[in-house]
Amino acid sequence: MSQSNDEIDFDVVIIGGGIVGLSFANELAASDFSVAVVERNTLKAVTDETDCRVSAINRFALKRFDQTGVLASSLMQRACAFEKMFVWDQGGAGQIQFDSAELGVSELGVIIENNVLQQMLLDKVKTAENITYLCPEEIAKINYSSADEVALVRASVELSSGKKIRSTLLVGADGVNSKVREAASIQRAKQSYKQQGLVCNVTTSESHQNTAWQCFMPSGPLAFLPLYNGQSSIVWSLDEDEAQRIMALDDDAFKIALAEAGEFKLGEILDLSQRFLFPLSHGHANEYVKPGLALIGDAAHNIHPLAGQGANLGIADAFALAEVICTARKAGRQWSALHTLMKYQRQRKGANRVMELSMSGFKELFGQKNVFLSEIRNAGLSLVDHIPALKYRIIQHALGE
Ligand SMILES: Cc1cc2nc3c(=O)[nH]c(=O)nc-3n(C[C@H](O)[C@H](O)[C@H](O)COP(=O)(O)OP(=O)(O)OC[C@H]3O[C@@H](n4cnc5c(N)ncnc54)[C@H](O)[C@@H]3O)c2cc1C
Repeated sequence: MSQSNDEIDFDVVIIGGGIVGLSFANELAASDFSVAVVERNTLKAVTDETDCRVSAINRFALKRFDQTGVLASSLMQRACAFEKMFVWDQGGAGQIQFDSAELGVSELGVIIENNVLQQMLLDKVKTAENITYLCPEEIAKINYSSADEVALVRASVELSSGKKIRSTLLVGADGVNSKVREAASIQRAKQSYKQQGLVCNVTTSESHQNTAWQCFMPSGPLAFLPLYNGQSSIVWSLDEDEAQRIMALDDDAFKIALAEAGEFKLGEILDLSQRFLFPLSHGHANEYVKPGLALIGDAAHNIHPLAGQGANLGIADAFALAEVICTARKAGRQWSALHTLMKYQRQRKGANRVMELSMSGFKELFGQKNVFLSEIRNAGLSLVDHIPALKYRIIQHALGE
């Protein structure tokens, strides 16, 4: 970090300290890059109350978090390891089960509240001497020009506090409505599912058995994800009108509607938290990189939450970008130049696009009310359940391995 004319220079400026931005910062903690993380919101405190935004974090991400010491946090007790995944078609005969024991691993992943994982990452990042955490800070203006692809491109960012910072590499980890993406004039193809995701935490009469339960219905999937305290986090994808109707139900009527939708797999719903709705969409930036600039996580791509892969893809972006720039720097190459950053884009864009298309395909297939398609679907689920090699490939993909 160096200072001149009221502008502070950093090698890397990360806009957005969500799960993905902090994962990236954490990867740079052991490097000699000077790094700034700019985050607009103070992190929601971890309290006894379980937060409603949770993520299923896969084994690939967990392994790396373990290597960098993130999992040593006492907050790991708030993570629930899930050993099984049970997927079924509402009203149909199709079902498939994935079991960690069959794969010879201890768990398929963990379910963790987003703010808990962020706190674990932030605690780690704050111990790194080369990282400056600027929060709460909002972007007032980004000055970025990629006109000259050979010369060193420096972006300068004016912050709401009046501070000015400059970067050799500006990283947009600022979510779906990324200002970094906008400042770089990167186009993004997007589509709304015209659906909302209803999330809340529930207490059920039957144990969740450390299993992620997912029921496919014509309107979309309903997931019950196991939490550390015996509760389950639900994510229920609903068409917009239906989402408003279900949201307006009083708690007793909602409990019945939810238990019925989940075909009482976890028994009755005994208690529930406040409910929240999130718009569901998918989108993909045309480019992830420009000279001296890169997008990671939801800033680059966002997908339907049906397989709980959005954060995992973003974390994989963070790991890949960090590896590319650290390797280039060690080799004495231009680590922020377009040709270097293109390696990151080549590694991640195809994989993210495949996942985006698979999620949309899944949603279409399971959204069909057509009896013929519904029978194929049922037969398909049960068939895959009986072909270990295929089942194994599907689950390896979901585990990020
Ligand atoms: C209902 C639902 C359920 C989901 N469940 C799962 C799941 O089980 N598993 C999974 O892997 N994924 C899941 N996802 C997806 C996952 O939540 C996202 O993919 C992930 O949170 C994206 O992380 P991110 O850090 O890229 O973006 P965000 O989480 O959006 O973080 C962006 C950060 O940037 C900050 N920011 C934005 N603009 C500025 C600015 N101008 N200045 C400063 N700071 C700024 C924001 O405050 C925020 O902290 C789900 C999504 C939804 C909608």
